[in-house]
Amino acid sequence: MTDHARELARAIRDCEGLFLVVTGAGISLASGIPTFRGSDLGAVWKRDVTELGTVRYFDQEPEGSWRWYLERFEKVLGARPNPAHSALVDIERWRVARQAPFLVITQNIDGLHRAAGSTALVEVHGAADRVRCSAYGCRNGAPDGSLPRSQVDLSSFLAHPTRQNVPRCPECGELLRQHVLWFDELYSGHRDYQWPRVLDASDTAELVLFVGTSFSVGVTEQVLSQARERGTPVYNVDPAGRPMRGVALVKEPSEVLLPRTAAVLDADAHPTR
Ligand SMILES: [Zn+2]
Repeated sequence: MTDHARELARAIRDCEGLFLVVTGAGISLASGIPTFRGSDLGAVWKRDVTELGTVRYFDQEPEGSWRWYLERFEKVLGARPNPAHSALVDIERWRVARQAPFLVITQNIDGLHRAAGSTALVEVHGAADRVRCSAYGCRNGAPDGSLPRSQVDLSSFLAHPTRQNVPRCPECGELLRQHVLWFDELYSGHRDYQWPRVLDASDTAELVLFVGTSFSVGVTEQVLSQARERGTPVYNVDPAGRPMRGVALVKEPSEVLLPRTAAVLDADAHPTR
């Protein structure tokens, strides 16, 4: 176990360009959030996700969409960061102190990287703690508006989850929706997804670390294909991961490996400037 941490720490130390970390549901498992499409018992979106997690469904049945998300966000919104999230903050600070570029792109909407203190962060699939107006161009809607979920009064919808009670935009009166990327939407659909920054990072990364991703969505494909093309070293931390071409697989829980890696970096730290 220590060997993997040492190897990863060495790669992080030797990387002078951008160190890009891409995280998926696996990193939040230890925070009690079931995976997006995992095989573990209780994977919340295992069924019907590609049908219900769509703007098409929201347009047809906004009250169903809201009910479905409120049920699913219950666990997400009460979760706390685990040692893997904290270790990535430590690694970010280690890099920043050496003026070495660093970025986390997360597919998770749970906000746990933010809660842990990550600042170089792209939440490419949106955030469960925000909502937005469904009307494009409204100041609370796409392309760049949103609202904190805590500002929305859900009491009447929770009491009577009917179409009439679906929360509405305080600005224009249109229906509010979740501030997340749906399956029939594009990464470019909202500025908060920071898609140009993702493209730029995948084009320039000199070290890539995947943590707990299922490699089933566009952002992982984008980063991995660019890394392969450019010959960038790629690590994948996933206890259930499968071997892939050009990827060094580390089958260890991220909440164990990443704190050890951060500890190795910290212990080996010496003045270089
Ligand atoms: Zn509006």
